[in-house]
Amino acid sequence: MITENEIIIGDEKFIPFITEEQIQKRVKELGEQISNDYKGKLPIFIGVLNGSFIFLADLIKNVNIHCEIDFFKLSSYGDSKISSGNVRMLKELNADISERHIIIVEDIVDTGLSLNYINQLLGKFKPASIKYASLLVKPESLKFDLKIDYIGFEILNKFVIGYGLDYAQKYRNLRSIYVLSQ
Ligand code: 5GP
Repeated sequence: MITENEIIIGDEKFIPFITEEQIQKRVKELGEQISNDYKGKLPIFIGVLNGSFIFLADLIKNVNIHCEIDFFKLSSYGDSKISSGNVRMLKELNADISERHIIIVEDIVDTGLSLNYINQLLGKFKPASIKYASLLVKPESLKFDLKIDYIGFEILNKFVIGYGLDYAQKYRNLRSIYVLSQ
């Protein structure tokens, strides 16, 4: 059941957490910051599928310099709410990123396992620079020493859905973010 005030999935209840207005305001700020930082350059935004596609779409609409996009896909969670600790590559990049300025776009950084894997993998292609953007970061869960350059919101270590983030592949289409209520 989906209502404005709560989402019930089995015996779990999700309640409103970050509104559509708050998300759009912050994404606009990040887009402006990136536009300034990359003036005179042609960055490639690289979205990590599936979760980042809505954030990436909204982000680049707020970027006012030329840019390119590409995507790749990793698997670590499956349909579970807890990281399996393993990362597998399911779809590779198409773009040649050597000598290019790349901005990796994630929906959420939890343990940092995925981003750490991406960092090692993409570094091998010798890009001119690598920066990271994530709509959400859970600082308390981070297990790797990672610098995330563009952060939408830092949140507590709770499971969230909506705005690209799924629950067993569903609920990505919610316009705002909901959190699991204990
Ligand atoms: P990490 O490798 O940083 O532990 O996890 C990154 C991935 O785990 C994210 O891209 C996302 O797919 C998934 N993830 C982590 N936390 C959450 C959460 O609270 N909600 C959802 N829906 N996915 C999450």
